[in-house]
Amino acid sequence: MRVFACPHCGAWVEFEDRRCLACDTHLAYALDRDEIVRSVRGLTCRYRSLISCNWVADPAPEAEGGCFSCRLTVERPDLEDPAAVSRLAIAEHAKRRVLRQLHHLRLPITPRHDDAGLGFALKVPGEGEQVLTGHADGLITINLTEASDPHREEVRISLGEPYRTMVGHMRHEVGHWYWQVLVDGTDLIDPFRALFGDERQDYGDALEAHYGDDAGTTDAEEHISGYATMHPWEDFGETFAHYLHIADSLETAAAVGLRVHGPTGVPYPLASSLHSEGLLDISDVPMTAVLAAWHGFALAANALNRSMGEPDLYPFVVTPAVAEKLDFVHDLVRRIR
Ligand SMILES: [Zn+2]
Ligand SMILES: [Zn+2]
Ligand SMILES: [Zn+2]
Repeated sequence: MRVFACPHCGAWVEFEDRRCLACDTHLAYALDRDEIVRSVRGLTCRYRSLISCNWVADPAPEAEGGCFSCRLTVERPDLEDPAAVSRLAIAEHAKRRVLRQLHHLRLPITPRHDDAGLGFALKVPGEGEQVLTGHADGLITINLTEASDPHREEVRISLGEPYRTMVGHMRHEVGHWYWQVLVDGTDLIDPFRALFGDERQDYGDALEAHYGDDAGTTDAEEHISGYATMHPWEDFGETFAHYLHIADSLETAAAVGLRVHGPTGVPYPLASSLHSEGLLDISDVPMTAVLAAWHGFALAANALNRSMGEPDLYPFVVTPAVAEKLDFVHDLVRRIR
């Protein structure tokens, strides 16, 4: 994420801010300019006070007074239920961050219309109802129970995952959408299969095998996470999410002027030294350079977190096989330019 300044006093303001802490100016975020602007009454998203959405309203009539992000939400829970609304707010917050990043990378975002395009169904399960987080033909369903920290942490521990966040869910699920739009049925499908495997293998069987007794037989060196080992689609979703994690973190590092000067001569396949600078736009450079920069930052960020007694910020290892898959995603993003 880039760094923003208050349009009135120039103080540092965050992407999420609705008010400048220094001068009290009311703020809004304009996606088309990627800028924090003065909020103008009547021109802000209709969900501003309900879920703290700080985006400028989308002028398209289909947006019905919502912003571009809220417009993509095609299903929301009962807005009279305060618990549901607070979970919706957390999910929408994560979604705005991810949408801003997709826009920054110039990935196509087509709002859902007539069962085509990208849309989000943000649901709180009713009594005895099961809501599965997932993607189907551009429609991303998020179980809003995941917005509850104790619940999400319990699931994370029970599945043995090192990382589980709402932003991570959004990045993974949009990855499935971009696979469908940018890979499926294109000349990239064979290179995809060569790297990730054949996605025509039965998904149900893969799911059963992953959660069944004979789980854990696949080669972890080839995948960024345990979940990625399940099926080529999930491998792509996980790889895509990591591409966005790395891109956003390096953008932030560049925006705030962070530099890492570690020891040189580190025997690591993806970086010969730990001298890293951030990258405002990772599509400008080859993936090898991105990963070399990222290696230094990931180590530095993990060390900072340990200083605070927190778990590692990036508890993953990018192996050479994973780097090749990230490079595939990088090419996809660069091809759009
Ligand atoms: Zn200000
Ligand atoms: Zn909004
Ligand atoms: Zn998935």
